[in-house]
Amino acid sequence: MNSTARDSLSSVLILSLGGTIAMSARGEGKGGVAPRLTASDLVAAVPELAEEVALELRDFRNIPGAWLEVDDLAAVAELLNKQAALGTTGFVITQGTDTLEETAYLLDLLYDGAAPVVITGAMRNAQMAGADGPANLLAAVRTAVCPEARDMGVLVAFADELHAARHVQKVHSTSTSAFASPGAGPIGHMVEGRPQLHFALRRQAHIELPLVRPASVEIVEATLGSEGVLLDTAADRLDGLVIAAFGAGHAPRTWAQRLGNLAARVPVILTSRTGSGSVLTHTYDFGPGSETDLLGRGLINGGTLGPRKARLLLLALLRSGADPSTVRAAFAARR
Ligand code: ASP
Repeated sequence: MNSTARDSLSSVLILSLGGTIAMSARGEGKGGVAPRLTASDLVAAVPELAEEVALELRDFRNIPGAWLEVDDLAAVAELLNKQAALGTTGFVITQGTDTLEETAYLLDLLYDGAAPVVITGAMRNAQMAGADGPANLLAAVRTAVCPEARDMGVLVAFADELHAARHVQKVHSTSTSAFASPGAGPIGHMVEGRPQLHFALRRQAHIELPLVRPASVEIVEATLGSEGVLLDTAADRLDGLVIAAFGAGHAPRTWAQRLGNLAARVPVILTSRTGSGSVLTHTYDFGPGSETDLLGRGLINGGTLGPRKARLLLLALLRSGADPSTVRAAFAARR
């Protein structure tokens, strides 16, 4: 390709963070896999990419998804915000699938550009028959240059489906179709190799970087007959708590008073452990532990955000210095 043809191509920055898509076994291919491949190795497996777009590659991290931290994603968001302002057409992030539903949402909260950001990975490493990394990468890059994907925040491309960061969840530990958006559905599909978006997404207010304040937020799940021992240990050590409650926002009755006491000190978000649907506001009023009771005790309604995404919203707000009323307003705005 001559340089004039290359100059007319859309520009995509690919950030490689590691994960199965970048994993291979040592030496002769024996033993378990670990992140070893670079962004240019990933791109080399999809020769048509370089024909279609002008690629810039960065090996940003090379670690399993389980090792990624909030500060890694804040650094990614800072880079994307800067590059989007400079005119990059789109961004692709490759990473471990274990934490992808969380990193996608966190980036969606922190990214303020209009250029598409598309995250992908793989369930089968590059040495396996039918490795899914190359097809996922191709889909992600094509979505990153798709004009309809602009202003949609962060999307996930996986197994020929496109998902919104706010809805996507990892729903299977090994299947190549490991991602779904329960309760919402994919926002698009790859059709004959090209992205087809079914809906536009209303962009939500982003959270300003940097995330300077240290903050600790954990999730405690309501379980049958639980005595809530974790609530007692959480009491002095957390800046915020997320309850993964039963059904539409219910907890064991023995928890109610303690949750109210905690909510008087730190934000306590009420979410559902079911995986989809909303926490209710006033349908059940059976006394201690109903959603009416818990919200009356000062818990904040997490709406349709699942526990993990609610935790990231609360954590990002607290780390950016939000006060209690800003936290409450941010959750109300997303219901
Ligand atoms: N199973 C994971 C993956 O699909 C491993 C990881 O998250 O690093 O990438």
